[in-house]
Amino acid sequence: MISEFLTEVDGRLKLKPENIEQYPNVPVEAREYLEQIKIKAIPIFEVLYPNCIGIFAFDNSSNHAIFAKDALVAKKMNLKPGERKKWPNGGLMLECKECKEKNDDENRINCCARRVMSLEPDFLAQKGAIAEIIEKAGHKCIFYPKFHCELNFIERYWGLQRGMQEKTVIIHGRFARKAWRYMSLYQKGIGGKLAEYAVKKYRSRRRIPDEVIEELNQIKFD
Ligand SMILES: [Zn+2]
Repeated sequence: MISEFLTEVDGRLKLKPENIEQYPNVPVEAREYLEQIKIKAIPIFEVLYPNCIGIFAFDNSSNHAIFAKDALVAKKMNLKPGERKKWPNGGLMLECKECKEKNDDENRINCCARRVMSLEPDFLAQKGAIAEIIEKAGHKCIFYPKFHCELNFIERYWGLQRGMQEKTVIIHGRFARKAWRYMSLYQKGIGGKLAEYAVKKYRSRRRIPDEVIEELNQIKFD
């Protein structure tokens, strides 16, 4: 379930009082449920930032990996005889133990029917429902890598929200810049303690300047 949208510029994605008057048909704020992306988040975004392409970024949570009802998802497939004529003569089990336990290994390509199916080009190209809705409206959609909450500024926003209710609008820009700094460091191959150090040291920046990357690489941590 999606609970909130945040923008780097304005914080919570919601119409301003002057917008509400001008666009009475656009909902005031975008909270909860997948449909909200289509009927709320995108229309609000387009009022606030006309002629802009939005990059909607989501956590990699299983709630966000929903597929449309008619999507091509190997997990939903049965072992009907002759399905795409892919099964060998001896047959293939529907789903092997490894796949069932989500032990991903890209070298395992024909362990079971669901794996074979999932590697078919049209299955690989199948996008989740979120990406479909957003891309159809002409915007873009990304998912944060798993276990990297430092890239996602909504996490910091929530952490603070719990402590002090509103008043956070000024701070969300800082959170966003911090997330950008982590991204620029990771892109340059800097991680771990060094990334933590650099993110703090270059607090005021959105990106870590190129010229200091080399300098950073000289620093040794115990
Ligand atoms: Zn398998």
